[in-house]
Amino acid sequence: MNSADDRRNVRAGHRNGGGTVTGFVHKGHSPHPSLDDSLEGEIRAFLTDEDQLHTYDDLTKVNPVTPTTVLKCLQARYRVKVFYTHAGCTLVALNPFQPIPDLYSLDVMKEYHCASQPQEFKPHIFIVAEEAYRNVQGQLEPVNQSLVVSGESGAGKTWTSRCLMKYYATVAASSSVLKSQDTVERIERRVLDSNPIMEAFGNACTLRNNNSSRFGKYIQLQLDRCQLLVGASVQTYLLEKTRVACQPANERNFHIFYQMMKGATDEQRKEWKMSHDQRFVWLPKAEKTIEEDCFHDTVEAMVHLGINAEKQRQIFKILAGILQLGNVNFSSSTDESQPCNLQEQSKDFLQRAAELLCVPAEELQLCLRVRTLKAGKQSVLKPCSQAECSMRRDCLAKVIYAQLFEWLVTFINNSICADKSTWCNFIGVLDVYGFECFQINNLEQLCINYANEKLQQHFVAHYLRAQQEEYVSEGLQWSFVKYQDNQSCLDLIEGSPVSVFSLLNEESRLNRASDAKTFKVRLEKELCDNVNISWDKFSKVPHFTVAHYAGKVNYQIQGMVEKNKDPVPPELISLLQKSENALLHQIFTDREAENMTSKGLSKVTVVSKFKNSLESLMKILHTTTPHYTRCIKPNPDCKPLTFKKEEVIMQLEACGIVETIHISAAALTCLTLVSQLDLLEDQRKRILSQCAFSIQCCWLRYQRRRRQARRQSATLIQAVVRSWLVRRQVQRWNRAA
Ligand code: ATP
Ligand code: MG
Repeated sequence: MNSADDRRNVRAGHRNGGGTVTGFVHKGHSPHPSLDDSLEGEIRAFLTDEDQLHTYDDLTKVNPVTPTTVLKCLQARYRVKVFYTHAGCTLVALNPFQPIPDLYSLDVMKEYHCASQPQEFKPHIFIVAEEAYRNVQGQLEPVNQSLVVSGESGAGKTWTSRCLMKYYATVAASSSVLKSQDTVERIERRVLDSNPIMEAFGNACTLRNNNSSRFGKYIQLQLDRCQLLVGASVQTYLLEKTRVACQPANERNFHIFYQMMKGATDEQRKEWKMSHDQRFVWLPKAEKTIEEDCFHDTVEAMVHLGINAEKQRQIFKILAGILQLGNVNFSSSTDESQPCNLQEQSKDFLQRAAELLCVPAEELQLCLRVRTLKAGKQSVLKPCSQAECSMRRDCLAKVIYAQLFEWLVTFINNSICADKSTWCNFIGVLDVYGFECFQINNLEQLCINYANEKLQQHFVAHYLRAQQEEYVSEGLQWSFVKYQDNQSCLDLIEGSPVSVFSLLNEESRLNRASDAKTFKVRLEKELCDNVNISWDKFSKVPHFTVAHYAGKVNYQIQGMVEKNKDPVPPELISLLQKSENALLHQIFTDREAENMTSKGLSKVTVVSKFKNSLESLMKILHTTTPHYTRCIKPNPDCKPLTFKKEEVIMQLEACGIVETIHISAAALTCLTLVSQLDLLEDQRKRILSQCAFSIQCCWLRYQRRRRQARRQSATLIQAVVRSWLVRRQVQRWNRAA
């Protein structure tokens, strides 16, 4: 067996703890120490006693590291309501699906913040937060930090991100002597208040999570020289705007619409032309959520961020207009030369929509029913079919909502972003959608899973590959842990010259009538040699299958090119530019909105835009020290304290947690080197001779990182020696057997 296995035998530190290094060395004087009784008892317990599994607060100490043992350990901890567990460099967070009193209280925050060695406390998201906070100062120069929170829908990413933000708003603020208390409170509060606004507009109740984020978010918390929080900036990714006009079965629209319906005063209802019993097609009545009761919180947060009453009025009128638009329907036309008519009962809705959006009703109607084709300098009017009319109606709602969301994010940034001269470092918190694999997957899932591939690659590059390469460069023997390098999958999706994205973009630019068919043919022809893509030729629904690091996903081809083009008819934009709603007018007359349409098509395709924004994100991540938190959803029904093994194992596999643990276990052993600072020379030598390999490894690192802070790792060095003893004993048992 090699020493990697050896190092994996490190025993749960907190149970071994207590002794000092000196005490231990005195005890183990003989060059071949025999196992003392207590240790032997522990080893036996370790191998057989499942009752103790919950005490392993780092999965690197589980032995052997296999998906089953890791799973058992997590389950044991969940059973006793311990939700956080280290997995070496990663923190695993199990969702309790119920509020846990005092787990995130002010006192707990203080405890972790004030501790000299917070990492010795029970695993908690605050350890990660505090470590990043202390790292910002850096050894030689400050280093920006990123906290990457990942996991599937409902796993707890947004909850965790909020906890992190609250932590910094607490520990990095308040007692500033540089600013008046007033200013400090205001900025903390504004930073936190960005959450309820973005969640109201960007989250919705889905089958997997009642408060599912339908966009990705990276927030940078800006710190000044004294490490006080002075501001923040937010970047969002790929809002699922289709939800405005089309909600999947048993799912809901964005929370804000329900909040308005429930929280409006009579006066507002009148202004929004929204009676109590009004039914809106775009507001399906799926399961009720607590988020819909939060209208006042949303408005309060808007006030704190500086969105004044007039702007709020404009925002809510736009939203009310969208709802009215959803009730507008068209009748089919028998004569193709004539535009479809509005259904009789839709006339009022169209009128109200126009009034709320502050655009002329006749023009709105015309834009929805008639297409303007430009032929040179001449314009030709072409009546739209019933389906086209509905598409234009949906498109109008989507473009308004997406632009409104972007405007809000910009407003929030203007309100919370500190002047560049006042901050010097940041801690970024990334909360992006996890890997998705549904029965039907389309462009949205392809983008989301592509983002996850990118993040996984970053993770692999940062921790796994770097760790292993470092061992090799130090001349250490190392049996390589097989990890999934997903470069080939990324090449398939985004590479050049030919990839799924490049072909998709080409098809989108060519703008052919039968683009789904030709896209399929080209995929099959040009990517046939790629092992990461496959096709089921006999399937009725044309699709392609991508082998992602987290599993295979079938992507439906139908509709993909159209979604990538994301066309907005220019007539609709011109109409909105005429709006007398100042906000609507503003968001459609700024330059970006103008760029959005060129001959009626958006110039930048969805995947190009997404790829660019993701690349800038990755660039930022590469310049920061990352900290990974893997949120795990213990059951699919969001039931409190329910642990379903199959669910958890799938998620552990999807994020490569077992490989991470293997490598981190080795790294953990290496860390013990620092404790040698506390040893006498002869003690050090004795340990070196006892645990030659492990300590050698430590020693090399020690020499390299002499300047690093001393860590009290008496328990760790014990663990190294113990691991060696354990291995010897197990070998003896094996031999005897
Ligand atoms: P999505 O990708 O759909 O946005 P998510 O990973 O962001 O999902 P959250 O919205 O953070 O998931 O969590 C889902 C729900 O789980 C929360 O609304 C909350 O009820 C519960 N939850 C998550 N983490 C915790 C926690 N640490 N303690 C108590 N409840 C939690
Ligand atoms: Mg979320």
